[in-house]
Amino acid sequence: MTTPLNAITIDVEDWVQSVLDPDLPLTDRFVRNTHRVLELLDAHGVRGTFFVLGLAAEKAPELVREIQRAGHEVQSHGYGHRLIHTLDRDAFRTDLERSRKLLEDITGQPITGYRAPAFSITQETLWALDVLVECGFRYDSSIVPVKTRRYGIDGASWFPHRLQTPSGYDLMEWPVASWQVAGVRRPIGGGGYFRLYPFALIRKAISQIHRSQAPAVIYMHPYELAPEELSELPYRVPWKLRLHQSLGRRGFARKIHRLLTEFRFGPIRSVSASLEEVPVAGQAVWNPCGEMADAG
Ligand SMILES: [Zn+2]
Repeated sequence: MTTPLNAITIDVEDWVQSVLDPDLPLTDRFVRNTHRVLELLDAHGVRGTFFVLGLAAEKAPELVREIQRAGHEVQSHGYGHRLIHTLDRDAFRTDLERSRKLLEDITGQPITGYRAPAFSITQETLWALDVLVECGFRYDSSIVPVKTRRYGIDGASWFPHRLQTPSGYDLMEWPVASWQVAGVRRPIGGGGYFRLYPFALIRKAISQIHRSQAPAVIYMHPYELAPEELSELPYRVPWKLRLHQSLGRRGFARKIHRLLTEFRFGPIRSVSASLEEVPVAGQAVWNPCGEMADAG
């Protein structure tokens, strides 16, 4: 039996605007960095899902067309990278619609998938799931099934599942990969965790996920492939942020290379199609507003 097809997802944004300060303009660096991602995936013949920030699409529409021409799935990372808990319902809807219209105009295709800036759909911002469905979105990949300092919901289903939004709509959720270690669930699918863990541990985590016949959803940012970037920026970066953000960047490309060599990856749309053939063990509808259903 072959192991499940996993999802590789890329949040296309510029580090300066998305991480350092949302009021700063995007630098051109994200274009070069996204080309690095495209080359890396192409070298492995792998297609992924690119959640493109509206501001990035506006600045570099040709880049979005390149991503699409290379056969990748283009979806939305919102427009301005404003964390959802800083927005009210109307402001979130405006941000979402703006990104969707931009991306649909550029790609000529319906945009139906979403990832929130910094995974900012939490217990306090579940209303955003209603807005997603009301705006025509079919899936979300913004809920981390572990509560950390910045994001996450403890007890959320960790495998791809249908959830019920607060208003009772049905929405497909694709949580990024997490695994159970020493009785505790921990994120593993990207960011600092992924950059710091040795590859052997990542391999072990993905194998554990596969034992439930579930796919691993991995995420990355183009800037993580640019170890030189943080020392070249014309901005003062607080030392703590610089430390956290630069850790593991040097070995990141090599790690992704190993990942793509050892496991099968595709865009979410392909993983979704593969799941219709093999149902995920213990899959159940999760209602984040009521009783926790089978969270696995
Ligand atoms: Zn982001």
